[in-house]
Amino acid sequence: MLSVIIPAYNEEEIIPKTVSVIDGILVGADIEHELLFINDGSKDRTWERISEAAASNTRVRGVSFSRNFGKESAIFAGLSEAKGDCCVVIDCDLQHPPEKIVEMYRLWEQGYDIVEGVKASRGKESGLHKFAAESFYNIMSNSMGFDMSRASDFKLLDRKAVNVLLNMNEKNAFFRALSSWIGFKSTQVEYDVREREVGTSKWSTRSLIKYALTNITSFTSAPMQIVTILGIIVFIVGLATSIEAIVRFFQGTAQAGFTTVIILQCFTGSFIMIGLGIIGFYISKIYDEVKGRPKYIIDKTV
Ligand code: UDP
Ligand code: MG
Repeated sequence: MLSVIIPAYNEEEIIPKTVSVIDGILVGADIEHELLFINDGSKDRTWERISEAAASNTRVRGVSFSRNFGKESAIFAGLSEAKGDCCVVIDCDLQHPPEKIVEMYRLWEQGYDIVEGVKASRGKESGLHKFAAESFYNIMSNSMGFDMSRASDFKLLDRKAVNVLLNMNEKNAFFRALSSWIGFKSTQVEYDVREREVGTSKWSTRSLIKYALTNITSFTSAPMQIVTILGIIVFIVGLATSIEAIVRFFQGTAQAGFTTVIILQCFTGSFIMIGLGIIGFYISKIYDEVKGRPKYIIDKTV
């Protein structure tokens, strides 16, 4: 059986259509399936729409969070609730072409464990958004060692890959990167991102920045090193000014006592910064490990 995982946050207008389109395509292709909606603490009537769909179609199931936990958590809740031999994660707004699920499923039948949907184009995005997205994917690609620029959450995972992801203890799991990081026999399917038909993007600029920062820090500790690098730069400047101050002292052009102040100031400053960088690095590691909080809290299911 195929489980289709659909995170939904304030998507009341499109749920009935999403159900009929995806269900229709999969019934048409004769693929046994379930549609698993995860209501990510929506403030509109999304949960009512999901409940209605579940009441009229036995293949539809729904899980509702106690509050908004974010798309990543919704995906992981879906993976954990899914009963299928393979799972597909797809957006609720039909921006990911549902026909591609059939193509992905056929590849899975041929023995692929992971079928990644990669964006042939990024769809319409403003200049600044495009630049920010590119920078984010550059940092991610560099720290992970493989190209992430066209990656998306639209993918099919075999049961064994799903189990590996579920057994990870990481709290800040970044689905689209982790699912590549785990390896397995994988292939790609290209798709064009469609325009959103109804509603608006659920991402505010602020939530996107937060999303980028969490994911960067969960995959690389590079930002922590900035403090250390700053410390080293200040140290070099300090060394130069100290030498100048000493030379002035021996030339007799320095004011009395001023030399010592400069030297002490520069060296202590740079050592504190280097020290903070190193300590911060370790704290960030410990912090990641000790947060034993759940990724999400389920309120009700249908
Ligand atoms: N979504 C979610 N929780 C959130 C934000 C978004 O479950 O906090 C879902 C949303 O309902 C949709 C998918 O994630 O199914 C992608 O969201 P959206 O279309 O707003 O993102 P975009 O396509 O603009 O990247
Ligand atoms: Mg969308």
